[in-house]
Amino acid sequence: MTGTLTIAGLGPGNDAMVTPEVTAALASATDILGYAPYVARVPPRAGLKLHPSDNREELQRASEALRLASEGGQVVVVSSGDPGVFAMASAVFEALEQAPQYQALPIRVLPGITAMLAAAARAGAPLGHDFCAINLSDNLKPWSVIEKRLRLAADGDFSIAMYNPRSASRPEGFGRALGALRDAGCGERLVIFARAVSAADEKIVTVTLNEATPEMADMRTLVIVGNSQTRRVGRWVYAPRRVE
Ligand code: SAH
Repeated sequence: MTGTLTIAGLGPGNDAMVTPEVTAALASATDILGYAPYVARVPPRAGLKLHPSDNREELQRASEALRLASEGGQVVVVSSGDPGVFAMASAVFEALEQAPQYQALPIRVLPGITAMLAAAARAGAPLGHDFCAINLSDNLKPWSVIEKRLRLAADGDFSIAMYNPRSASRPEGFGRALGALRDAGCGERLVIFARAVSAADEKIVTVTLNEATPEMADMRTLVIVGNSQTRRVGRWVYAPRRVE
């Protein structure tokens, strides 16, 4: 049988948010690769080999997936949310660049509900006007780039979705990001902290940027900073569609 490689997004956590297309790919897989907590979301069954790995091993995992597919496996690489958003799809294409012998393999990327869309839906419609997304991890880019992009996003009055805001190994960055946005004059903007969206311990909190503290975020939190027009209506937060 010809091998295939599918890169699939599992959504934010709740099985009801996995697309039927991804469910079908998982059902016909022979091998599943991914960061261990995501692989753990796939129920084991006969004929399915699970290959959990550490979250720092993306490129190695991608190369292994290409190799297994070239040997005839129906291989699925899983990411949380969408696989193209700060996730495995780019890692697979990086690995493919380094291993041109695999370029004829049938590869599919199956989208998933990314954290910022799940978080936005819980809060109301904070991404209803122009927005951008930024990964606050400086593992793969210098902090100066992050700060520059935040400043420019503030200057452009974009709403800003922040992924990977804060981790045990990077406790300082998020505080600096909040500081950079305050310095850019965004202190009165609304900030949504959406933690563990769609999981049992989901928590959504909205404050102004001046009230926000670094401890309000961790690695399971998606942070949305509103634009200058973002406002509350009852318990909801939304960005108006019109800019005068
Ligand atoms: N590919 C993923 C993002 C991976 S980066 C996606 O499209 O969603 C991991 C970051 O995503 C986390 O640090 C957090 O900021 C965010 N995230 C993922 N799942 C989340 C959830 N259920 N609730 C809140 N944030 C989440």
